[in-house]
Amino acid sequence: MAIDRDATLDWMSRFADEMREHRKELVALDTAIGDGDHGTNMDRGMQKALEKMRASEQADPATVLKTVAMALVSSVGGAAGPLYGTLFLQMSTAMSGQSEVDLAGYAGAWRKGLEGVQSRGKAVPGDKTMVDALLPAVEALEKASDLDGGLRAAAQAAEHGMEATTPLMARKGRASYLGERSQGHQDPGATSTYYLFKSAAEAFAD
Ligand code: ADP
Ligand code: MG
Repeated sequence: MAIDRDATLDWMSRFADEMREHRKELVALDTAIGDGDHGTNMDRGMQKALEKMRASEQADPATVLKTVAMALVSSVGGAAGPLYGTLFLQMSTAMSGQSEVDLAGYAGAWRKGLEGVQSRGKAVPGDKTMVDALLPAVEALEKASDLDGGLRAAAQAAEHGMEATTPLMARKGRASYLGERSQGHQDPGATSTYYLFKSAAEAFAD
C-alpha cells in the first residue's frame, strides 16, 4: 500500500484509537515513575488532532502530520506534547509536497523526526525515554528493502526497545528525579511510541 493522504489519516486515526484504548495503561506506567498524566495527555492531544484533521481538507501526508503536530503542541503540556509535536513537524517537513511517500522517503522522514526529538530533548539511547523505542524502529525502516517488511520490522523493533527500557535508570524527564527507583518500570513515552509504529504497520502494510 502507498503512503498517501488517506492512509496517513488512517494512521493517525489508529494512533488516536490506541491512545484512547491504552490510556489507563499509560497512566499507570507514568504513575509509577512520573506524574501519571501521559495517558490522558496523549489521549486528549490525539482527540484534538482528529478534530482538526476532520475540520479542514488535508492535502497530502505532510499536511496531515503538520495538523497533528500543531494540535499536540497546543493541547498537551508536559514533555511529551512538544516532543511528539517536534517529531510530527519534522516528519511533515521532510515529506513536504509529496502526494505519495515511498519507503526511502518515509524512513528519511522518521530519521528527521528522531533528530528533532533528540535535539529538543537531549536524550540519547539508554536514557529511558521514547528515543529507546524510536531509534531501533527508525533503523529497522532504514535497513528494509520493502515497505511491508520494513513496517513490521519497525513495529517489532519499537516493541523490543520499549521492553528494554524496564531495567534502565531514567536520565531524562521527570522519571530521572527518581534515580535508581525508576528501574524496573517500563517507560511510558517509549510505550506510546511503540503504539505509533504498530498503528503505522496496520495502516500502511498490506
Ligand atoms: P511529563 O513528563 O511532563 O509529565 P508525559 O508524562 O506526557 O510528560 O511524558 C513522559 C514521557 O516523555 C517519558 O516517559 C519519556 O519517554 C518522554 N520524555 C521525557 N523527557 C524526555 C526527553 N528529554 N527526551 C525524550 N523523551 C522524553
Ligand atoms: Mg507525566
